[in-house]
Amino acid sequence: MANKLIYLDNNATTKVDEKVLEVMLPYLKEEYANPSSIYSFSRKSSNALKEARGVIKDFVNAKDEKEIIFTSCGSESANLAIRGVLNYNKNKKHIITSKVEHPCVLNVYQALEKQGYNVDYIGVNANGELNLEELDLAIKDDTALVSIMWANNETGVINPIGKISEIIKSKNKDTKLFVDGVQVAGKIPIDVQANGVDLLGISGHKFHAPKGVGALYVNSKTMITPLIIGGHQERGKRAGTENVPYIVGMAEAAKLAQDSLHYEMTEVKRLRDKLESNILSKIYNARLNTGVANRVPNTTNIGFEYIEGELILLHLSDLGICASSGSACTSGSLEPSHVLRAMNVPFTAIHGSIRWSLSRYTTEDEIDYVIDKLPSIIEKATSISPYQKELQALKDLRK
Ligand code: PLP
Repeated sequence: MANKLIYLDNNATTKVDEKVLEVMLPYLKEEYANPSSIYSFSRKSSNALKEARGVIKDFVNAKDEKEIIFTSCGSESANLAIRGVLNYNKNKKHIITSKVEHPCVLNVYQALEKQGYNVDYIGVNANGELNLEELDLAIKDDTALVSIMWANNETGVINPIGKISEIIKSKNKDTKLFVDGVQVAGKIPIDVQANGVDLLGISGHKFHAPKGVGALYVNSKTMITPLIIGGHQERGKRAGTENVPYIVGMAEAAKLAQDSLHYEMTEVKRLRDKLESNILSKIYNARLNTGVANRVPNTTNIGFEYIEGELILLHLSDLGICASSGSACTSGSLEPSHVLRAMNVPFTAIHGSIRWSLSRYTTEDEIDYVIDKLPSIIEKATSISPYQKELQALKDLRK
């Protein structure tokens, strides 16, 4: 097994499914027509686009294909949703989000704050669960938008979106709810209608489509002003010739993800739980950062106390094992993750926290290999920690 790639960083990105690549290729080679052209050569492209829109509509359980806008990524979907709603409702100046959102939401909110918006950042408890009372109290008459992610990219913690929507709408029926659904697509069922979602963003590369394609669901009662102005594509909501091959690929990936949901929620979860329980039982200075919180089936975030996560990642990398010490965007910096900080993960564990994220391609052999190799990696990192006294005390405590 040594030197084989073991990819446990599927919340950062995923491998393109072979079947996805296969359906994309004709649209990169022969069927390159602009889907908006009127000659018959463009019919295949325009039909493929229409079909893909129907697939994504079903994937999120939207009511109508017209509610789906194709974008370039999850970040664009979030930017279009947030700025789109606010630019349409210029008189309302209060907006709400959570402290643990992805930077594609948080940084937009911070920019809006500088432009004069009043922002409430809702906190989470020690398990990463959103404080619903705080949310309830924050909603005002001039709250234009609430942006809450469905599942967190670093911890996998799932927010009760249906309940969140009820809270918002009971306080102010005109407040819009944008849900960053990037980390739930392909992991748990998505139903925008049943959960009272006004806008929802997804990103193809998180569920085995290529990078560079995403979608935004906007329900028919929600008006947005476009960010990209130009031609009439996407019903005037997002100008630019549609990326037909990638959109076709994302639709195929959505179909495959839908078909694999049961596997994801049973087998991928079993492997995640196996990895997690073995790490926690074999390694005395390991702690599960999310406690009993409800999570997507593929993710676990484990803190290794008194050691540096980067060191663990380097040792893992030597064995071909890919994991992450934070979100894809924050890894590379030594700043501890804003998500773990919002959860008040003790400073002794925050620097040594590792996110493991599996996919339907993860095998039992791979998980067994990690379980076999990790204890000695942690021991090596622990042996050079300056906190030997504290580690001994922890060892005695957990014996
Ligand atoms: N939202 C969440 C929760 C994410 O995990 C990510 C990617 O890491 C994004 C949004 C951004 O998606 P993209 O990389 O497609 O812009």
